[in-house]
Amino acid sequence: MTVEKYPPLVELKGKRILLSNDDGIGAHGLIVLEKIARSLSDDIWVVAPSAERSGAGHSLTLHHPLRPVKLADKRYAVDGTPTDCVLVAINHLMKDHPPDLVLSGVNMGVNLGEDVHYSGTVAAAMEGTLLGFRAVAFSQDFEDGDAIHWDTALRHGPDIVRVACAAGWRKHVLINVNFPNLGPDAVKGVRVARQGKHKIGDDLVHRHDPRGRPYIWIAGRRLADASAEATDLNAVRDGFISVTPLNIDLTHDDTLLGLKRVFPSS
Ligand code: MN
Repeated sequence: MTVEKYPPLVELKGKRILLSNDDGIGAHGLIVLEKIARSLSDDIWVVAPSAERSGAGHSLTLHHPLRPVKLADKRYAVDGTPTDCVLVAINHLMKDHPPDLVLSGVNMGVNLGEDVHYSGTVAAAMEGTLLGFRAVAFSQDFEDGDAIHWDTALRHGPDIVRVACAAGWRKHVLINVNFPNLGPDAVKGVRVARQGKHKIGDDLVHRHDPRGRPYIWIAGRRLADASAEATDLNAVRDGFISVTPLNIDLTHDDTLLGLKRVFPSS
């Protein structure tokens, strides 16, 4: 199998960058992402969900119409998921001149470990990747009630994009970046790390609505990552920016070989 790579992209100036997110067109993190992108190039397109779609994962709207609303030059809101936005942007709005790079975020909150399977932020980058484009997802850690260190993403985001693009990486792989809950000067550095484990959703909150009917709310508690390995979770916990390459192909090679032995005809 040939390993196709994105060729190194050393100069981003003048290159076309598509931005999307899952927190919606009005999210502060999108303003931060736009500043990151504008420090790299001036050909910036924004196509983002008209409402917050956090947790939308890689869902695609198949049974409702999608109507991109033009808000300004190169700026659209779509009443759909992050995936819809990137798909409509690349295959319709930017059809005549596709982007060189897709950036997603900056998400309000981390997308670490298994979060990436639920995350609309990561899914927007994943859709860009599936369509054949370099894509990077950005998320910013924060604590409830505290001011969010957006300036950390803003300060360190551009260099991460520059360095990764100049190096090039494998096609069908996207880059997931998480910034720790620290000011830009307190960040300890960048740590390239694998995906960790901290499943969300083990603390369902049971309440009653004002009409007395019971409901369940999926709360945000996550299990601690007990892994001793260098994971994205450990990196961000230790004050580093995590950089994790994620493969679109979810096949597990060892299990594939094991199953081939027990199903010998395959
Ligand atoms: Mn979000």
